[in-house]
Amino acid sequence: MPEQDLNTLRHTAAHIMAQAVKRLYPNVKLAIGPSIADGFYYDFETETSLTAAELETIEKEMKKIVKENLTLEHFTLSREEAFAFADKHNEPYKRELIEGLPENEEASFYKQGEFTDLCAGPHLPRTRDVKAFKLLSVAGAYWRGDEKNKMLQRIYGTAFFSKAELAEHLERLEEAKKRDHNKIGRDLEYFTTVDYIGQGLPVIMPKGAKVLQILQRFVEDEECRRGYLLTKTPFMAKRDTYKISGHWDVYRDGMFLLGNEADANDESKEMLALRPMTCPFQFQVYLNKTRSYRDLPMRFNETATLFRNESSGSMHGLIRVRQFTLSEGHIACTPEQVEDEFKGCIELAQFFLEKIGLAEDISYRFSKWDANDKGKYIGDEKEWEHVQGFMKKILDSTGINYVEADGEAAFYGPKLDIQIKNVHGKEDTLITVQIDFQLASRFGMVYTDANGEKINPYIIHRSSIGCYERTLALLIEKYAGAMPFWLAPVQIMVIPIAERHQEAASKVLAQLTSAGLRAEADYRNEKMGFKIREAQLQKIHVMLILGDKEVEENKVSVRRGNNDEGQMDLPALIEKLQAEAAI
Ligand SMILES: [Zn+2]
Ligand SMILES: [Zn+2]
Repeated sequence: MPEQDLNTLRHTAAHIMAQAVKRLYPNVKLAIGPSIADGFYYDFETETSLTAAELETIEKEMKKIVKENLTLEHFTLSREEAFAFADKHNEPYKRELIEGLPENEEASFYKQGEFTDLCAGPHLPRTRDVKAFKLLSVAGAYWRGDEKNKMLQRIYGTAFFSKAELAEHLERLEEAKKRDHNKIGRDLEYFTTVDYIGQGLPVIMPKGAKVLQILQRFVEDEECRRGYLLTKTPFMAKRDTYKISGHWDVYRDGMFLLGNEADANDESKEMLALRPMTCPFQFQVYLNKTRSYRDLPMRFNETATLFRNESSGSMHGLIRVRQFTLSEGHIACTPEQVEDEFKGCIELAQFFLEKIGLAEDISYRFSKWDANDKGKYIGDEKEWEHVQGFMKKILDSTGINYVEADGEAAFYGPKLDIQIKNVHGKEDTLITVQIDFQLASRFGMVYTDANGEKINPYIIHRSSIGCYERTLALLIEKYAGAMPFWLAPVQIMVIPIAERHQEAASKVLAQLTSAGLRAEADYRNEKMGFKIREAQLQKIHVMLILGDKEVEENKVSVRRGNNDEGQMDLPALIEKLQAEAAI
């Protein structure tokens, strides 16, 4: 089925939905109702928020409209007539849309039965052509996506040409729901959020924190082996720092300012800002001494907590947050070294992605500047074109497949983005490697080359496992909560059958823990079957069961998933599990 036809079908379904809503709630005001990637939506101004139960009623009314088999008739009105129409029907959003149309053009309308909508089309000719649809959810959405405007109610739905395709799609959505980190990450107690703490500020709970600790140690140790020098730098700095870096002029809206915002431009008053990146701080290590070409390359890394003031509407679980932790690093190198260093960064990222099992899910994006919007960037056209050409040459020589994206560069240089899709199909950046030809000169970083001349080093900004919170979210979705054994926050559950086995169980637990394995014991006064099921629901790999026989023979019964693996001596089992847990 051509995509265009599917869009037409879905957009027609949006009209039918709007008609149903108008029949049920005559005072509702209509905004817009386009087709989108997986379906359609329509925005309404309503007196109260809509509920899931009301969606069902709307869906029933839609089915009636489909059965009525109304014809969609096209007509046009002059600008003045169109305004009069919008005013007569008390549709202020439609009036605003008409105001946005070219003044010399007629406004296009579609009518089906008693319902008329301002719309350019196209649509299917009759309502009966919409055979398979489903309303999915309702959410708040600002008019024109602007927080300063009124919050409207957006109803999402989807439609297909056949019932079978619709059923298949709904099944996919169900599957995605089962993996959605925003649901199971909370159910399995990896993280939580609290309204009065704030949007995009997740509280990472012990299980999530354990996974992050394992990843962080793994990353820092590997980077140390690859010649990185660890730094630990401040979370905030005076505005002076960001003036040098350019963030103050280009990125101030994205930063959290500490102090009276009215004093932001008053140099006599101190103004601090939380850091959105680590570069200016790590540069100070370089600047602490004079450097010669013999010192280069210098590679710095830091597990850095960063803060970015993104709109609350865009927050999503652990994927879009306002405070996050980045495996951040900067490399200062000579022009001769930059190609190898850049490739080394890609190779390191690939190494980590391979290890955690996300390598097959990623794609590469070469993010360039937008030459038509130069105000968003620092540096001149010649430099940008030079560095982008140079970076393209390196990328081509690595043989990786990448797409090019205009307007996605950082404000100080182009970047390679490693992209990944979440369970809902939404793509985000996981890891970046950037070549920067601006900041070294802004911060006065130089080295003496072999001829005794002082020149600016190239700077590579890079992450290697990306944003830890986002990586955790993607791992939860990838494994549906069942982390691989080496990453699992709780690897083993010790299950005493009766109260008299508790003492033996606590000894087993102590031995497992001191052997570096992550274990818990379930001492609750519940049936063994219940405790096993609970451990399975918690995605715990190994269950060790202790009853009379095991205690007497000084053994444990081993169970994995639904498999009973029989009795084992504890020391032998510990050795086996340690080998499995090795990174
Ligand atoms: Zn339409
Ligand atoms: Zn940086």
